[in-house]
Amino acid sequence: MPGKKDKLFYQQKNAYDTVSAEDKKACEAYCEGYKKFLDSSKTERLGVRYAIKLAEAKGFKPYASGMELRQGDKIYWNNRGKSLILAVIGKKPLGEGVNISAAHIDAPRIDLKQVPLYEDGELALFKTHYYGGIKKYQWLAVPLELYGTVALKSGEVVDVSIGASPDEPQLVITDLLPHLSADQMKKSMAEAITGEGLNILAGSIPDADTEGSDRVKITVLELLNQKYGMVEEDFLSAEFEAVPAYSARDIGIDRSMIGSYGQDDRSCVYAGLAALLDVEKPEKTAVCVIADKEEIGSEGVSGMKSRSFEWFMESLCASNGVRLTECFANSFCLSADVCNAFDPNYPEVSEKRNSAKVNYGTAILKFTGSKGKSGSNDASAETVGRIRGLYEKNGVVWQMAELGKVDQGGGGTVAMYMAQRNIETIDGGVPVLSMHSPFEVVSKMDCYMTYKAIKAIYNS
Ligand code: MN
Ligand code: MN
Repeated sequence: MPGKKDKLFYQQKNAYDTVSAEDKKACEAYCEGYKKFLDSSKTERLGVRYAIKLAEAKGFKPYASGMELRQGDKIYWNNRGKSLILAVIGKKPLGEGVNISAAHIDAPRIDLKQVPLYEDGELALFKTHYYGGIKKYQWLAVPLELYGTVALKSGEVVDVSIGASPDEPQLVITDLLPHLSADQMKKSMAEAITGEGLNILAGSIPDADTEGSDRVKITVLELLNQKYGMVEEDFLSAEFEAVPAYSARDIGIDRSMIGSYGQDDRSCVYAGLAALLDVEKPEKTAVCVIADKEEIGSEGVSGMKSRSFEWFMESLCASNGVRLTECFANSFCLSADVCNAFDPNYPEVSEKRNSAKVNYGTAILKFTGSKGKSGSNDASAETVGRIRGLYEKNGVVWQMAELGKVDQGGGGTVAMYMAQRNIETIDGGVPVLSMHSPFEVVSKMDCYMTYKAIKAIYNS
């Protein structure tokens, strides 16, 4: 007999206690594809390339301004190799709005400075400037891969990739031995490792043909010159990104989780992409945004503040004879981004009743931000209500979440930049353990439920 509690209480259940055997099987298959995506998308440029490869295999075509569009057409626009917008054209005209999922492909990392290479103590090192919010100590004594885009003086652009293949060398930032860390260990975690201390070890053999100083630096430059045709000055017009050099793995004796670098926010990027690739003839046009630069405030031409989004959407609207403002006013956007999952090792930062939990499904965040909800989108009750109904109808396991205790800290997403465009927007995505670390952990089921959630939005 159902009692009063069953009738009146909001009772959350672990997804594993409610989902069908069919969903469990589909979740496993989905996560195999997701792990491949993670391993192929270590930087924003590689992520965009891999997404295009998957999209083209499903019949997506590059969009050119002025192109005539029909229902069911599948298109993508590559924004300077760093962000990507894909769309499946719907039955309804664009004036009735589109359904958008916007996630970000960039992740915290260690960039090389523009004049990076130097020699000290007969070792070659790279000076770095970290990108995004990192806890610096986590990046020491971790094997690193290095990806570069070098614009040579000739105009040629060369791709550099060091450390991804097992026969290639890797790089590392050294840490101090505990035996000599007496002074260091007395410092606070914020002060113990400095930004200027994150120098990457790059070589140790002195050049045999040269005398005097900087002979190891010569060796490193000569090897780069032989392989990529670059000289030291070419670092000035280059982007080098060092990222953790390990691949995505199942985590837990029960293999229920995935550990990998970059799951903020590639778990949501893949969910949005995979869902779009599975959408056929939606009512409204479905738009998947893969944004760059979220981790540094959504700035730049490839970030979500950029009018490049307007350029693409306006171009689509023009082909329908519709005003962009009309389209935006009737559109909906899921700002698909991760949140923290409750971590029993650090219960003090979360308020249990309002924290996302591993395996409780994709999260909805009515608001993000910090302090008094500052810097948050704060979706309306009506929006939450509509999405809640949509998820329930489509068998999506979901949970309401807030990013940590009040006044504990906070964070932002692209949500407010979408809302500024007069697009109804809500935050939601995959709960993560060890977020922003070199090895983030998510639940497979929560990833799969985020895919189901975005698919339901595209088809609504
Ligand atoms: Mn994020
Ligand atoms: Mn982040």
